[in-house]
Order: sequence, then C-alpha cells, then structure tokens
Amino acid sequence: MQLVFATNNLNKLKEVQSLIPQHIKLLSLKDIGCFEDVPETQNTIAGNAIQKAEYIKAHYGYDCFADDTGLEVLALNNEPGVYSARYAGEQRDSEDNMNLLLANLKDKASRQAQFKTVVALHLNGNLETFTGICKGEITTEKHGEKGFGYDPIFKAEGYTKTFAEISLDEKNKIGHRGKAVKQLVDFLQSLR
Ligand code: IMP
Repeated sequence: MQLVFATNNLNKLKEVQSLIPQHIKLLSLKDIGCFEDVPETQNTIAGNAIQKAEYIKAHYGYDCFADDTGLEVLALNNEPGVYSARYAGEQRDSEDNMNLLLANLKDKASRQAQFKTVVALHLNGNLETFTGICKGEITTEKHGEKGFGYDPIFKAEGYTKTFAEISLDEKNKIGHRGKAVKQLVDFLQSLR
C-alpha cells in the first residue's frame, strides 16, 4: 500500500515514519511533486486536517493522510488551539510563539495544557479521522533541544522532563501524534 503523508514538516515525517508498518510505503509531498502551501483555513483542528487530506486527493489524486495539531491551554480558554502555528504572528516562529505563551501565562495560577492531534485519512473514497490527546502542563522556562514547536515548554503528565528533553521513541509512546497515528495504523491493519 502506498500513502501520502501531507506534510512538509520533516520533524512530523520522522515521528510518523517510525510508527508506520513497513508494508505501507509513505510518500511525502515532495515525492508527489507538491511544492505549494496546502491550504489550512478552517477554524478547527479536525477541519484543517480534513481540508489538507481532501486537497491532496482532489489536486494530486493520491490516497493520503494529513495531521493538524494544536496546543490547548486551559487558563487561556484553550488558546492557541487551532492558531498554534501563528500564535505570535504570520512569521510562524516557534521561539516567538513560546515567548508569547510564557508571557501570557505569567500570572495564571493554572498551567494545565494539552496537545491535540487530528489525523484525517482519505482512502478509497472514504474519510476517517483519528484523535490523539496528550495532557500536561506548560513549564515556566524552555528546556531541551530535541523535538520542535512548543516541545521545550511542554511537560506531559507524570513527567519531569519536557518533550524537548525526551527521545523521539518516548515522545511517540505518550504523545498526541503518536496516539492518533497508532489508531490510524490499527485501522489500516484491520483492512488487510
Ligand atoms: P501544525 O499541525 O503543523 O499546524 O502545527 C501547529 C503548531 O503546533 C505549530 O506551531 C507547530 O510547531 C506546533 N506543533 C505541532 N506538533 C507539535 C508537537 O508535537 N510538539 C510541539 N509543537 C507542535
């Protein structure tokens, strides 16, 4: 089976590749000659994941899956949520995003947060979605060099280290994207 993972994010590709069984050949957007920005203009995480998967099917003809992720912070009414990528502006800069989040949480009593990933699969004319959630909290400072995005300021429940301080395997085991992709893999296996 051949499936496109609709992302240009090499970090996501690395995470997901290690979870997909070998009989599924994963193609990147580059592999199918897609070098444009795939639209994600919906106002929900699920909406964006579905939009990306449908766009690739409609414009390139491939069965594919896409993911969209947001960081929901309880004390900020679940912001940045679907706007996580451009929280601090259109430059979509992770350092700027983390700095703004830390500043906005400075005087808040709760630092509770969760990552939410929705994976949308477009396969044989059908659409399926899989949701993965990882609960945790926002640290007061950045820690660690691994991972990407908000990883240096997110600590999963029960962990003393941030996502940027733990291995990729460990993040995949407990993380939002890993949980959603595992459901995707189970679904694909059930079709065999
Ligand atoms: P998107 O899913 O690529 O739209 O991601 C939205 C925002 O969340 C971007 O700023 C990403 O850097 C960030 N993000 C997505 N996944 C993760 C993750 O696993 N860890 C930390 N930040 C993430």
